[in-house]
Amino acid sequence: MKREKMLKRLKKRKEPWDIVVIGGGATGLGIAVDAASRGYATLLLEQHDFAKGTSSRSTKLVHGGVRYLQQGDISLVLEALKERGLMIQNAPHLVKNQAFIIPNYEWWDGPFYQVGLKVYDLMSGKLGIGSSKKLSKNETIGHIPTIDQKGLKGGVVYYDGQFDDARMALSLAKTARQFNGVVINYMKVTGLLKNDEGIINGLTATNLESGKSYDIEAKTVINATGVFADAVKKMDEPDVKEMIQPSQGIHLVVGKEFLPDKYAIMVPHTKDGRVMFAVPWHDKVVLGTTDTMKEKPELEPKAQEEEIDFILETAGQYLTKQPTRADVLSVFSGLRPLAKPEGDGKSTKEISRHHKVMISQSGLITIIGGKWTTYRKMAEDTVDNAILIGALPDRKCVTQTLPIYGYDKNLDITTDHLAVYGTEKYQLLELEEEEPELAEFISESLPLRKSQVVWAVRHEMARTVEDMLARRVRGLFLDAQESFRVAPEVAAIMARELEEGEAWVSNQLEAFNKLKSHYLI
Ligand SMILES: Cc1cc2nc3c(=O)[nH]c(=O)nc-3n(C[C@H](O)[C@H](O)[C@H](O)COP(=O)(O)OP(=O)(O)OC[C@H]3O[C@@H](n4cnc5c(N)ncnc54)[C@H](O)[C@@H]3O)c2cc1C
Repeated sequence: MKREKMLKRLKKRKEPWDIVVIGGGATGLGIAVDAASRGYATLLLEQHDFAKGTSSRSTKLVHGGVRYLQQGDISLVLEALKERGLMIQNAPHLVKNQAFIIPNYEWWDGPFYQVGLKVYDLMSGKLGIGSSKKLSKNETIGHIPTIDQKGLKGGVVYYDGQFDDARMALSLAKTARQFNGVVINYMKVTGLLKNDEGIINGLTATNLESGKSYDIEAKTVINATGVFADAVKKMDEPDVKEMIQPSQGIHLVVGKEFLPDKYAIMVPHTKDGRVMFAVPWHDKVVLGTTDTMKEKPELEPKAQEEEIDFILETAGQYLTKQPTRADVLSVFSGLRPLAKPEGDGKSTKEISRHHKVMISQSGLITIIGGKWTTYRKMAEDTVDNAILIGALPDRKCVTQTLPIYGYDKNLDITTDHLAVYGTEKYQLLELEEEEPELAEFISESLPLRKSQVVWAVRHEMARTVEDMLARRVRGLFLDAQESFRVAPEVAAIMARELEEGEAWVSNQLEAFNKLKSHYLI
């Protein structure tokens, strides 16, 4: 997957594209996979890097949502549980089965969650991934030796999926390309084109690397820009009512000593009524999340001090050792693109997570809401609408059984940090055989080898040091300090591959270092 080749294909095409997708997060990339695999001429444009927005900042769960069950949103849970099963089935190299334990500190908690989780198990039907089970106090401690034992009565174990979100996004980009789709990062959509009747028939976009602008013809245009959806809607109708309510969620990453075994903790009711997770991820532990209403969308949102304190304090209530700021290896924040509630007075945690597909009078298709877990179904619904709007030949969705690029059942992301490459892992190892110096580690703790940087530039459209350290590997999210330490070496290797000079390296490092205040506390 090379950016220059993608640009060439964009310039070469003389006919209108069947479907042009704006936004390269979970939603847009899922749509590109769906559209391309149905045989439509598909183009996706992303203003920054793939998954730069919310889609690299999730809690990494592929889940039905125990919380939504608590809220009684049965249809959402049913849909998400089905999609959870399909995601594990179609991308086993990126999604794995994760055991969660709900610790019980009140005698009535045990039976209450046991019943609820049995319903959860039953709702996943044929695509179930394990049965929930009551645990004694000793079993709970055996699985989570770091759990606070004061007043502990026992626990309930249940199963959901876990994944690497940014790597999944990249694999979706590769899947779209496999079906002849064109996906381009650093290409910002700046306006919409309309015919004499006022119907959208294309858009304008700027290549942010070269500054060159393009007029692109399209039979349908899909706005899949997450929290930025209102800005694109305004390109169509400047006075349109805003419909997105961004809600911020932050995560803290701490060392494995806080959760040494493979079990995750799920706290169904924090003191302010939220759900909190502590989940092992790439040999570290992710703690989160929060739900804070935000005024405006941002590409690089920043954790608030109160959010950090809240997570540390809540984690401390369930763990033997209270995590402190000094234990935090990285902090990352994301914005949920929630649909604004109709009435006033609803808090963000009560806003529905269902997705909505909307069509404007001029034919702009906008998709908002949803979750990473339901990206496939969201894409199917959106492309079904695009077929009608663009008068495209009717073709059925094929993604329910479509393997995601790199599909390999034998790889295990819990034990093998190269599993996220899927079948390309073996090509990466071949590269190391051909050029043995590339097998050297840049960082053993992240872990990161030189070959991964070369691979990301040659085959994964990594354009910046941030692309490399935040999304091609997850260093910035896992250990920010270590990522800033190795950035100069990463920049030097990338510069060689991209045939760039010293000025490029210093610009890259300057830009990357600006992220310090966001990921380090
Ligand atoms: C804290 C948090 C935790 C979450 N945890 C989970 C979880 O565990 N499991 C789960 O299933 N879901 C989870 N979610 C939800 C999930 O992450 C989101 O629903 C999903 O990532 C949204 O994807 P998106 O593609 O709609 O948005 P984004 O990922 O934000 O993508 C939109 C893209 O559009 C691009 N864009 C914007 N304007 C333009 C333009 N003019 N031209 C070109 N490109 C443009 C942006 O750069 C961006 O990359 C979580 C969300 C948050 C915030």
